[in-house]
Amino acid sequence: MAIILDGKKVSLDIQDELKEEVIRRKEKGKKIPHLAAILVGDDGASITYVNAKVKACERIGFKSTLVKLPEITTEKELVAEIQKLNEDIKIDGFIVQLPLPKHINEQKIIQSINPKKDVDGFHPQNVGRMALGLKTFLPATPNGILEIIKRYKIDTVGKHCVVIGRSHIVGSPMSILMGQNYYPGNATVTLTHSRTKNLKELCLQADIIIIALGKPEFLTADMVKDDVVIIDVGITRIPDESKKNGYRLVGDVKFDEVEKKASYITPVPGGVGPMTISSLLMNTMNATKLNK
Ligand code: NAP
Repeated sequence: MAIILDGKKVSLDIQDELKEEVIRRKEKGKKIPHLAAILVGDDGASITYVNAKVKACERIGFKSTLVKLPEITTEKELVAEIQKLNEDIKIDGFIVQLPLPKHINEQKIIQSINPKKDVDGFHPQNVGRMALGLKTFLPATPNGILEIIKRYKIDTVGKHCVVIGRSHIVGSPMSILMGQNYYPGNATVTLTHSRTKNLKELCLQADIIIIALGKPEFLTADMVKDDVVIIDVGITRIPDESKKNGYRLVGDVKFDEVEKKASYITPVPGGVGPMTISSLLMNTMNATKLNK
């Protein structure tokens, strides 16, 4: 039976630590971190995510500002809003909630954010710094995964880590970070994707599997070896009439059978998901210190 990596608990621990730090900063008359979020349009999931971020700020004593813009906002208008936040000395860091409406070029928007306030870590300058191992804002989900690995003291040195999925927000940065020459890295990394031919063979050699592809219960017990460490990033809503909200959340791992072989495993929900907000809050605290 595997040890369950409790992302919910780790996330709350981090938020408690940040709350303490806010109290200490207040006592010393230092600036209280202020996070802003821009939300364009009325996508239900995006509203939920942004509200959760604002709520988390309130809980730990950060200031927060939510800028809500209508779906019809033009790229130019959005860039103008971003400029305002770039120049506002009260704001330490901000995010533009993705995805954006189709008529807006996401890359253009990300590149208009001041990299020193880019607490999502998506600006090319910050991605480049991450790749070079320089101090920067790490993207929230990979940062959250590193934090779980650190707090459970999981050994990564010399281990074979197979990353499944190569998205810019999870798989690709994860493969870079696990391969860096300091803990939690120093793993030998294989980055896989939909064109990978021998995925099962690679997985069977893996000491650590980080899976982010969005295919429910894709990774089965016959694909992993004993004592593997499993980090399941996938979240898919599956219709379920027995649930009040009409769905349940399922990860990319067939949990019940893989858990029997693994040494550590993240559940879905309650694993990687809750870490994302805490990562953002950690980045905001760092931005406050950096921009003083
Ligand atoms: P994504 O952009 O949806 O891309 C999926 C990746 O999976 C692609 O790189 C794709 O390869 C690869 N893939 C698809 N089929 C494959 C196969 N049969 N074998 C190997 N690789 C395959 O990825 P994402 O945005 O990272 O999202 C992935 C999942 O993580 C989703 O369920 C998402 O909801 C979840 N997620 C969770 C969090 C969290 O906080 N927990 C955060 C972000 C995402 P190609 O590049 O070749 O197409």
